[in-house]
Amino acid sequence: MKRIQNFINGEYCDPQAGNYIDNVEPATGEVYCLIPDSTEEDVAMAVAAAEKAFPIWSGMTGEERGAILMRISLGIEKRMDEFVAAESRDNGKPLSLAAHVDIPRAVSNFHFFATAAEHVSSESHYMEGVGVNYTTRKPIGIVGCISPWNLPLYLFSWKIAPALASGNCVIAKPSEITPYTAYLLGEVIKESGMPAGVLNIIHGTGQYAGDAIVKHPKIKAISFTGGTKTGEYIARTAAPMFKKLSLELGGKNPNIIFADCDFDEMIKTTVRSSFANQGQICLCGSRIFVERSLYDKFKTAFVERVSKLTVSHPTDPNAKMGAVVSEPHMEKVLSYIELAKQEGGTVLTGGNRVHLEAPYNNGFYIAPTVIEGLAYDCRTNQEEIFGPVVTITPFDTEEEALMMANSTVYGLSATVWTSDLKRAHRVADNVQAGIVWLNCWLVRDLRTPFGGVKASGVGREGGWEAMRFFTEAKNVLVTF
Ligand code: NDP
Repeated sequence: MKRIQNFINGEYCDPQAGNYIDNVEPATGEVYCLIPDSTEEDVAMAVAAAEKAFPIWSGMTGEERGAILMRISLGIEKRMDEFVAAESRDNGKPLSLAAHVDIPRAVSNFHFFATAAEHVSSESHYMEGVGVNYTTRKPIGIVGCISPWNLPLYLFSWKIAPALASGNCVIAKPSEITPYTAYLLGEVIKESGMPAGVLNIIHGTGQYAGDAIVKHPKIKAISFTGGTKTGEYIARTAAPMFKKLSLELGGKNPNIIFADCDFDEMIKTTVRSSFANQGQICLCGSRIFVERSLYDKFKTAFVERVSKLTVSHPTDPNAKMGAVVSEPHMEKVLSYIELAKQEGGTVLTGGNRVHLEAPYNNGFYIAPTVIEGLAYDCRTNQEEIFGPVVTITPFDTEEEALMMANSTVYGLSATVWTSDLKRAHRVADNVQAGIVWLNCWLVRDLRTPFGGVKASGVGREGGWEAMRFFTEAKNVLVTF
């Protein structure tokens, strides 16, 4: 069986302890490759390589670094089909989604930060009659990037591209559940001309490999995307070591729909914002609040469309939804559907595991599920499910919609549908979220700040926010 390898000091290598973990294909439920179960020895080896590489990489000009990152972007693009197939197989998502979203966005992440490397500028602050401050921004040194399984290469590259563009050396760990495209990336890195040791990719569990990255004293910053519980643990571990932390965590995003919205556009987009990637996008709107006068019309149209979404294996061109990422995750999502019923909810469509024909009969498929009749503050409406399950709830006033929307511990994103311009801005202003989409969803501009408030995280990624996170500012004052 294929064994994937770590990528350390510019070379593929086996884990030092020689241990491997099974990697399961969600579409079939079968093990299809083995991945290194890396330990602190592997992380130490990667840090040693990064230490050697740091003076070389940070000593290059932004233009030189940018040229290498641009070659990585083009290198992935050149092998688009291979990356798309690998992502879809590893994660269970339809091929079409990997082809239209995941891999093109990974390509553009490297492209965008390749150009950013050339555009970094320093600031100065003139003091009347006193002097001039100037502020330099230097790379931190060695940084750790830890990413989740839902958008594997897309979120992996979203972190490592700005970390590298700003001159750092990186120790990166993809999720053990979806390691394959990060493994393939090593080949592109080799061809790009990047000096050995600049980017090191370690595979393994969060418990061992991830923890070793967080605890390593020479890794000075951690950029983490994943669950809120894991983020809390990382913050507790890293804070006493005074590491810089960027935490992109869970969400329970509200989708607030007013009766005056463009109904057709809203309904089409709401199906997507509920079930794209099997509902496993941190930005999916899992709590749908609908103004009461529109509620019945919305419910009928939404349920009709959702019940027609084809759940199939990822290579089926008709698949609108594929498999969820793993068996434990499937069980977790199904357990929330049971909880919703216990809490008094009515399942309007879905609510069950889907069994496909062989060879996909043991795959992890769940029918897209819509539930109504739940209190806004019950567990189903407060806890992150991160799967193809949404709840719909009517509201009477804007105040009530906002109260319910803001009632969770989370605050990642929100979507608002209305044609009343003033109301759109007012609700955007008052909803507790780091990202708000008005009459649209998941439209991406790489320059904008990305991240959440409350238990959805600390710090922002994207554009200059990311470049600032991965650098240290130094202010120098010269007096007249
Ligand atoms: P996890 O928190 O389980 O894992 C995220 C990453 O952290 C994985 O690489 C994991 O490794 C690693 N990890 C786990 N434990 C530790 C540890 N103790 N120390 C260091 N690293 C560790 O999240 P999931 O992978 O399950 O991802 C889903 C979550 O991610 C959801 O909550 C979702 O909302 C959130 N998310 C947030 C986004 C945002 O931008 N705010 C975007 C996308 C997802 P391994 O998998 O090998 O255990």
